[in-house]
Amino acid sequence: MPTTAPPTPAHPADGDPLAAARAAMNQGQAQEAALLAAAAWRAASPADERARGEAGHLLCVSHYRLGNWAAMLDSSESTLPLLQRTGMVAEQVELLRWVTLAACELGRFEQALRSANESCALAEQHGQSAQFALSLVTLGICIERMGDPWQAHRLMEEALARMEGVDDTYARCMILNNLCASYIGAHYLLRDGGAAEQARQVIHKAAQHAREARTLAPQLPGAAFFTAIIDANLAESLVHLGELDEADALVEGALASVTGQGNVARAWRIRYIRGILLLARGHAEQAAPQLTALWHELEGSQQHNTLTRVHDALYRCWRRLGDPGRALVHLESFEAIERRRVVSQLQAQSALFVTRVEAERSRLEAQAERQRAAELEAHALRDPLTGLGNRRLMEQRLPQLLAEAEQAGSPVAVAVIDLDHFKQVNDRFGHAAGDRVLVALADLLRSNTRGDDLLVRLGGEEFLVVLSGATPARAREVTERLRQQVEQHRWDGVAPGLRVTLSVGLASAPPYELGALSEAADDALYRAKQAGRNTVVG
Ligand code: GH3
Ligand code: MG
Ligand code: MG
Repeated sequence: MPTTAPPTPAHPADGDPLAAARAAMNQGQAQEAALLAAAAWRAASPADERARGEAGHLLCVSHYRLGNWAAMLDSSESTLPLLQRTGMVAEQVELLRWVTLAACELGRFEQALRSANESCALAEQHGQSAQFALSLVTLGICIERMGDPWQAHRLMEEALARMEGVDDTYARCMILNNLCASYIGAHYLLRDGGAAEQARQVIHKAAQHAREARTLAPQLPGAAFFTAIIDANLAESLVHLGELDEADALVEGALASVTGQGNVARAWRIRYIRGILLLARGHAEQAAPQLTALWHELEGSQQHNTLTRVHDALYRCWRRLGDPGRALVHLESFEAIERRRVVSQLQAQSALFVTRVEAERSRLEAQAERQRAAELEAHALRDPLTGLGNRRLMEQRLPQLLAEAEQAGSPVAVAVIDLDHFKQVNDRFGHAAGDRVLVALADLLRSNTRGDDLLVRLGGEEFLVVLSGATPARAREVTERLRQQVEQHRWDGVAPGLRVTLSVGLASAPPYELGALSEAADDALYRAKQAGRNTVVG
């Protein structure tokens, strides 16, 4: 099932094959998109890894839509390293999903699982919820193709739960559509296993999910493509539910649409659905030749999943038509493909166990790495002596803080605070005592302000306090109280005989202009010093 992000709309610029390829893709012309993307790849200089990455990415998507799984995997091998080197994470996560799906179609489950896990880990590492959910779905598809639709549902339901509160129509639509597809897979297993009632229940769910996905598809760019694939799934569900007239209309519409888009793989699948629809109507004699033609086209193609279904349908046809010899041919082919699938599944599963352990480990490593980076970042914004913010933090926060206040129309007060004669404190009591004063002052600042006020040590013995929402009168009250507390503080604990005072320069917004504000506060501080220190001016 496709889980690519819809290509961004583009207008073909003259001589820009990449833009032209994107436009072709949006118009559902996968064949043309593939040719143009290949041209864009050749036109981009090998040194321009970004351009090549984009072209390669588009080429992979168009190959996928055309059902050229092997070509898709080939292109992805040269494209993935480019996306990695140029930091195109979203494209990388997405392409890994396509690799998973193509590898699944080819029965290369080990490769499929590896890419699915890699895609999940990368999306989670970069905190991309919708991408992670889609990658989980792809892992689910892989597991479903390996023969376990139940585990697939579990993963996809989890993906749906992860989308709670995430506004991403595309991801939601794809998850629902894939849930539908995996319920269809479960239906076949249950039906062939003789669990008719359960088979009926899951095919009901399949149809429900498809209908829900169907309501979202028109909102997506390139809606025709998505609508057609959902309609095909809905039609397949409806055939099994016996709602044949509705299925019929959907099949014909979807087939015309995917054929127009050059989506050969989808067209095969829909022709299979048309075959089982005829069979369900009791027209085995019409279904048989159509499905036989389809079988011949599919042989040698890489559509294992559809081919299995076609053999199963032909087996039923010939039985209905009283030809056990021909029925047996298809039953044997069906069994042979199934056995090959089981072998690949078991081989991949033994690798999966390792892969899962590895995925978990890399997930934990990525988490630890993110935490380290966050701590480093926080560290870089703090003054190590006092634990207050530093000048970098101020530069980062203050403009934003002012912009928000301006928008809300609320006042902001800025206080520049400088210790009086601090050089003398150092000279008389020693630098260590001076440091302890700075630390104690930081505590007094914290206890006199609110948690969301911005406290910064600008450098030396100069501090900045930004009081959000404070009127000038309120700011004067707060800083005056601070001034008194510092003056009255028992500094003897730091050094006997020590006295500390500070001067404060106040300014306030509006006007919300950073330069003017800090200049006004500096001016006020200068006046406070001129006025004899130990005072608040502004
Ligand atoms: P004024 O009242 O005019 O502000 O006088 P002042 O002595 O406080 O001003 P000045 O700028 O001349 O001196 C500031 C002093 O602060 C100089 C320096 O020794 C001291 N200082 C700067 N950073 C630190 C620090 O991290 N620890 C200590 N202990 N002292 C520092
Ligand atoms: Mg000073
Ligand atoms: Mg100073």
